[in-house]
Amino acid sequence: MENCPPKKRIGIVGVPPLAIIRQLEMAGDTIFDLDEPQVKQDIELASSYLPRVYCAILRTVVVNALSLKPDLIYIDVGPGKCDCALHTATILTDILPQTTIIQTRNQDRTDFGTPLCTALMPLVDKISAITRSVQSARSHPELPACPPSAGFWGVPPRDFSLLSLFPDSTHVFGWTRCMENKTPDNQAMEELFNPHIPTVFFAQSFCAKTALARHLANRHPHGLYVDCDVTAGNSTKAKIQAFLELAAEQKGAGRGRPSDFCLLSGALGALSTLSSLLPPVV
Ligand code: SF4
Repeated sequence: MENCPPKKRIGIVGVPPLAIIRQLEMAGDTIFDLDEPQVKQDIELASSYLPRVYCAILRTVVVNALSLKPDLIYIDVGPGKCDCALHTATILTDILPQTTIIQTRNQDRTDFGTPLCTALMPLVDKISAITRSVQSARSHPELPACPPSAGFWGVPPRDFSLLSLFPDSTHVFGWTRCMENKTPDNQAMEELFNPHIPTVFFAQSFCAKTALARHLANRHPHGLYVDCDVTAGNSTKAKIQAFLELAAEQKGAGRGRPSDFCLLSGALGALSTLSSLLPPVV
């Protein structure tokens, strides 16, 4: 009787190329998305290996990798991820001698579509489903698109709790949209936004995408730039909440033209003052 090869424990960082996902699916290996918290460990554990002024996603990768010690890690280090991941791959290779670290450069060009990005669904569930979909080479199920009332632009945040502030009819843009489309290196898609809906442009602190997020927020007629590190604090949450509520109120009052509720960086001082009047967000 033939023995089945033992299932491997595989870590992924970023979006692995489709060819690799197909292999993993055929082998039935267990996949851990190391970009997301997988273990209850203090993120300080990463500080011996990565500076504290490194993005919280990659510090989370190191914490997960040290704790889970997967058999193999696929880490995207190409333009679909970032240079910081390239350096993290070098460090993981040194500190985890029992784990095989394979660097990938995902430049897949086949569009899988973005039905989740435009579906009516709580934003936490939507982005969780998008990150899970990376582990499958199958086509996405069809979902009807809802009329959007807000936009979220950016990477899946380290702290998903900030997503709970958004309405279910939020449409998703930025790198998260590229993830669902299975084309993580897709500059045109990453820079796309809808100028007709109030949009939060989010980036992790210490990530190069902060520059793009702030630039696009300034070009958007009613955009808000936000960055945060490991967790989203009350002031960040209050700022997002105030922005979304203000936009909804102004739309309800018939002042829906973009110039009426344009909130560029210069207006954030006033917005912060408004935020301080709101009850704290827990
Ligand atoms: S948040 Fe930015 S720095 Fe961090 S892994 Fe993603 S692209 Fe790289």
